[in-house]
Amino acid sequence: MADKNLTAILYKQGDLKLEDLPVKEPGPGQVQLSMKDVGICGSDVHYWTHGAIGDFIVKAPMILGHEAAGVVCKLGEGVTTLKVGDRVAIEPGVPCKMCKYCKKGRYNLCPDMKFCATPPYDGNLARFYCHDADYCYKLPDHVSNEEGALLEPLSVGVHACARAGVEIGSRVLICGAGPIGLVNMLTAKARGAAEIIMTDIDQSRLDFAKSLGANHILKVTSRDPQVTANQIEEIMGDKVDITIECSGAPPSIRTGIFATAPGGCVVLVGLGPADVELPIVNASVREVDIRGIFRYVNCYPTALAMVASGQVNVKPLVTHRFKLEQALEAFQMAKEGKGVKIIINCEK
Ligand code: NAD
Ligand code: ZN
Repeated sequence: MADKNLTAILYKQGDLKLEDLPVKEPGPGQVQLSMKDVGICGSDVHYWTHGAIGDFIVKAPMILGHEAAGVVCKLGEGVTTLKVGDRVAIEPGVPCKMCKYCKKGRYNLCPDMKFCATPPYDGNLARFYCHDADYCYKLPDHVSNEEGALLEPLSVGVHACARAGVEIGSRVLICGAGPIGLVNMLTAKARGAAEIIMTDIDQSRLDFAKSLGANHILKVTSRDPQVTANQIEEIMGDKVDITIECSGAPPSIRTGIFATAPGGCVVLVGLGPADVELPIVNASVREVDIRGIFRYVNCYPTALAMVASGQVNVKPLVTHRFKLEQALEAFQMAKEGKGVKIIINCEK
């Protein structure tokens, strides 16, 4: 039935269901999208398995999914920038567009951000979904819907590498070879990084990173972060200019600080425990900057340009594909840590 809208709803921790919901009409400035591909992110899995991430708690049923691309099927009032039939990548966070952070151009810090599948806001793992037109980016014919969905994690890499100051010749340590570590590696390469080393505790993830272009890989085996930092220094011939931490593991953050050269920068992408003990005096007296990053801001156009021009190839990141009807199976696989990026296709 045309008005049926199969949707993946997280009712509460551990309770994910597929149900038909009514199709919503686009509000002013919005477009209605017939959803194409939606990637599963670690956060979707975490809300399912734990019911919360930090202060974001699933208190009411929430639709999952935020790494997405779809086709415009209806225009809301006042929309002139898109037309029916356009394929678009959906930037999942829509800020208030009014506050001082929005006006400064740092809308990722907006206190009134409505971000797909971050409670209490619904995501877009469904057949149909409505979104603000100005947070939808038209895909050129040669960029696929899957690549459109992957612009979401890629944007995290674009933002982190910019905050880290990765440039031509940079020597970079990336801790953690999950999807986020990998998009950072791809972005750092595109920005001209000369040499990249990636760490992980999982050899298969490291092998994948190597196949995707990491110059060096190191399996972390020591519990002592200084020992790991020394191993990194040995492989790289010196300390690195930049560390992009993408595991969130406290020992890995410590390693990142020890492994970074004086005057360098450590960017914290990985989000682990709320309180972490760090060698802060070591960082301080060597003027190693420690910077946080939160998602991304103004990065979708860059991520799209990188993919459209061929500077970055995100296609190999997709290791598994499922139909929307198989969403529970797909989430089960993601939970087991299998594969890298799992994509759910929402077409009928
Ligand atoms: P992931 O769990 O797939 O990858 C993390 C990787 O780190 C895994 O491969 C794991 O084996 C590895 N790891 C664990 N302990 C390690 C250690 N001691 N040293 C080196 N590697 C270690 O997760 P992901 O989807 O790639 O996301 C990575 C992190 O980034 C998560 O913490 C996620 O919450 C965070 N994240 C942050 C933002 C942000 O805006 N700051 C955005 C997206 C994701
Ligand atoms: Zn705002």
